[in-house]
Amino acid sequence: MGGTFDPVHYGHLVTAEVARAKFLLDLVVFVPAGIPPHKKGIKISQGTDRYMMTVLATVSNPFFKVSRAELDRPGPSYAIDTVEYFCTTFDKGTEIFFITGADAAVEILTWKDAKDLLKKCGFIVATRPGYSTGELKGHLKEAKLYSTHCIYTVEVPALAISSTDIRRRVKQGEPIRYLLPRNVENYIYKTGLYCPNKITE
Ligand code: ATP
Ligand code: MG
Repeated sequence: MGGTFDPVHYGHLVTAEVARAKFLLDLVVFVPAGIPPHKKGIKISQGTDRYMMTVLATVSNPFFKVSRAELDRPGPSYAIDTVEYFCTTFDKGTEIFFITGADAAVEILTWKDAKDLLKKCGFIVATRPGYSTGELKGHLKEAKLYSTHCIYTVEVPALAISSTDIRRRVKQGEPIRYLLPRNVENYIYKTGLYCPNKITE
């Protein structure tokens, strides 16, 4: 599951858990992006903070792991490079699914080497408030033409939570409790993340 995770929240966690349970996945690997190519020009928090928060959020789930693959790789974090990396890391024959939310998935064909990527792994696309399942399936039709794997859509409990909104709330002194795990909330307050002069990358 790729993402900026700035910060990770219950929308990410519920998506990962629903996908894991529904498709009997052995493991969900959260991969915080190093330099997200689709967020060019947008300030994001340091990789270390995003990695730490993702570890804190996932530590209690034995099926969840966090990878530094994209954080440790120089240059833009392209999904194709990450999937190729996992293809060589995991045992031969391991089936890999890229888990993503609807907003990211509708843009799949604009991703670097998208047609090759669709031949390397399957996709599990989660619904997200603002994207109807019908609309989503329509958007994925073209991607399916190039895919040699399965592209599933999965209905997850609608949580209208976004990292953008959480960052705004912290900045404006509004509560973030119940939007993300308590230990991640504590990390944000302890480090001063999302306060105006703290976003550094
Ligand atoms: P930002 O507002 O900074 O873009 P975000 O909340 O969209 O943050 P990302 O790190 O961009 O979080 O998202 C990582 C992945 O998780 C994406 O595929 C995204 O679609 C998915 N996702 C994020 N929030 C939700 C949610 N509430 N429900 C379902 N999927 C989500
Ligand atoms: Mg996003």
